[in-house]
Amino acid sequence: EMFGQLTSGLESAWNKLKGEEVLTKENIAEPMRDIRRALLEADVSLPVVRRFVQAVSDQAVGTGLIRGVRPDQQLVKIVKDELVKLMGGEVSELAFAKSGPTVILLAGLQGVGKTTVCAKLALYLKKQGKSCMLIAGDVYRPAAIDQLVILGEQVGVPVYAAGTEIKPADIARQGLEEAKKKNVDVVIMDTAGRLQIDKGMMDELKEVKRVLNPTEVLLVVDAMTGQEAAALVTTFNVEIGITGAILTKLDGDSRGGAALSVKEVSGKPIKLVGRGERMEDLEPFYPDRMAGRVLGMGDVLSFVEKAQEVMRQEDAEELQKKIMSAKFDFNDFLKQTRAVARMGSVSRVIGMIPGMGKVTPAQIREAEKSLKVMESMIEAMTPEEREKPELLAESATRRKRIAQESGKTEQQVSQLVSQLFQMRVRMKNLMGVMEGGSLPALNN
Ligand code: GDP
Repeated sequence: EMFGQLTSGLESAWNKLKGEEVLTKENIAEPMRDIRRALLEADVSLPVVRRFVQAVSDQAVGTGLIRGVRPDQQLVKIVKDELVKLMGGEVSELAFAKSGPTVILLAGLQGVGKTTVCAKLALYLKKQGKSCMLIAGDVYRPAAIDQLVILGEQVGVPVYAAGTEIKPADIARQGLEEAKKKNVDVVIMDTAGRLQIDKGMMDELKEVKRVLNPTEVLLVVDAMTGQEAAALVTTFNVEIGITGAILTKLDGDSRGGAALSVKEVSGKPIKLVGRGERMEDLEPFYPDRMAGRVLGMGDVLSFVEKAQEVMRQEDAEELQKKIMSAKFDFNDFLKQTRAVARMGSVSRVIGMIPGMGKVTPAQIREAEKSLKVMESMIEAMTPEEREKPELLAESATRRKRIAQESGKTEQQVSQLVSQLFQMRVRMKNLMGVMEGGSLPALNN
């Protein structure tokens, strides 16, 4: 499980705040030690951990509690925001040349997945409608050239290769000329990977860079190497000047140190991540999603936040009052589900509900369908029934009528009614009100 250890390390921090009513310097001391330990165990570099913990502590005691939010929830949110910041905030897009081919130069040590990334990246760009060409620049390993040719075929992208009896800078020059002739949109150059950094490697890369004048120089690093990856990015940046990193093998049981440290340590963003051996397994690096994964919980707080953004302020206050007093009715239910729909795709919101992190497209379609079903049943209710869901819980006759009018089954109506009562309880809990509401049984 990716980040598994980090996630559970952080969990013990939140748990220590259960039952607290505010965040103070004193009561966060222990949780902050847990956070510090969890990050160090995830192989995040010490200076980064120090700054991180400081930033989180300052905010935790410096800001008042958001209304309705428990201290432990608020700390989760602060940690999440800081994690996102640590990883560079926004997604860092690939840059493209304004005219002529975009040139991407890939560098990296041996075995990190560089050759694989060449082909993955070509496929990724091809899917965006760009024509690509690969240049086989690892002239010291015939096997690497063969591998690139095979992968190129696999993804349907031409590979420019000229054997091993040629200097990297020369094949770079020839390959680029060829790409210009063919009017290719993006050229991706593979380079020799060594087992460790040496002067020869750096000099060669500098020369290739001079020849290609690349739009992107990306260092491929292996996530399994933790903070070492961040140090490598720094070294390559200082030596040859790079534009970013590609982090591979994030699907393994990487502890997270690399993903969390690269930007902060080197100043260079992670642009893409490899998450498997298949050619399709390359995607942009989204700091926000990554932070969500690290925390390992559907993002309750951002769900609440987004809900509040969408609903007008007085609606939100009204709703909160109703939730607190368990008066949440079908009108609110309808407003809420419509607000959720307005928030964008239902899928995104579903992803934020705890325990529902992994949702398949089929499940999303199912959810969207059931939203429509719900709406039609609520529309068949009288105003009185909408305001007093108890009426429906008590009367099978009413439920039958609604079923007929909306063209749904009585069972579906019953389900909707119990769902509302369950939602009351869940929302109350969400708002941090612990006096439990009970589920009324349906009378027949
Ligand atoms: P290079 O020496 O840097 O060119 O590395 P290769 O591209 O030959 O990859 C080395 C090994 O790592 C191969 O077995 C790849 O299949 C594997 N690999 C590359 N990227 C990933 C990834 O994102 N996830 C996993 N699980 N394996 C990867």
